[in-house]
Amino acid sequence: MRIDLHTHSNVSDGTETPAAVMAAAKAAGLDVVALTDHDSTAGWAEAAAAAEELGLGLVRGAEVSARSQGITTHLLSYLHDPAHEPLARMMRQVTAARWERAEAMTSRLAADFPITWEAVAARAGAGRPVGRPHIADELIAQGVVVDREQAFQRLLHPSGPYYVRYWSVEAETAVELIREAGGVPVFAHPGATARQRVVSDEAIARLVRAGLAGLEVRHRDNPPEQRARLAALAERHGLIQTGSSDYHGAGKPNRLGENLTSQAALAQIAARGRLPLVGGGPWAS
Ligand code: AMP
Ligand code: ZN
Ligand code: FE
Ligand code: FE
Repeated sequence: MRIDLHTHSNVSDGTETPAAVMAAAKAAGLDVVALTDHDSTAGWAEAAAAAEELGLGLVRGAEVSARSQGITTHLLSYLHDPAHEPLARMMRQVTAARWERAEAMTSRLAADFPITWEAVAARAGAGRPVGRPHIADELIAQGVVVDREQAFQRLLHPSGPYYVRYWSVEAETAVELIREAGGVPVFAHPGATARQRVVSDEAIARLVRAGLAGLEVRHRDNPPEQRARLAALAERHGLIQTGSSDYHGAGKPNRLGENLTSQAALAQIAARGRLPLVGGGPWAS
């Protein structure tokens, strides 16, 4: 069984529609895929219809933006009730904060490069969770950089002069809200050293006490020594271990199915989540 529990559509910063992500997952030979757009569940209905049509298992999810020890922290929420108002409100608030931040970054960039806020905002789409990848795509369109990778390295990096932080909740709060909404919270790429410092063992232990269910151990941004550390932490705390691609369509080199999650881990997630899996098949029982 091939299971990939972390993908993005153009509802957030992927390049393909939710239905196209489902079709790509089927073509990549996946049996089950999760759609986990940043701070949004707006792609769920379209993805579910496509998954049913394709006979593909779908885990409805989101990647919630939070912070821990001052470090940007992403929490995958699986199978939560999208109508649970406290979690939905928090995702709306972080989306609003993302809009302020993207406008601030664009205005800093506009002093040195041909870029306008109108163009960046149009790339994200009104009400959608805008991110640095949308700014990157406009910089590519204007010929400033050749691809998203170059945009992040040269202009959008947190250590650079154009970077602006955005408001988000503490990760413990996010974990609690996800659990209240019936979701299964999994810490996304916790060992991603390339971006910044990593969250400490002690802070992860606090997240476990708040209700964290799992760690995304196998992810291309977790280097080997981090994967070993995370697997040991998961053992110690009895956490689910997942592996995923973090597919963004053409927006990142990450390929669907490049890291996989076991059927046993998926069964634990399905057993704990409030919503059922979509798409039928043996995994949905
Ligand atoms: P933001 O959430 O707005 O701070 O932007 C972070 C998003 O950009 C994440 O979804 C990453 O997957 C994506 N990202 C980070 N680095 C890169 C890169 N080098 N190339 C393409 N996308 C990236
Ligand atoms: Zn992303
Ligand atoms: Fe992430
Ligand atoms: Fe992601």
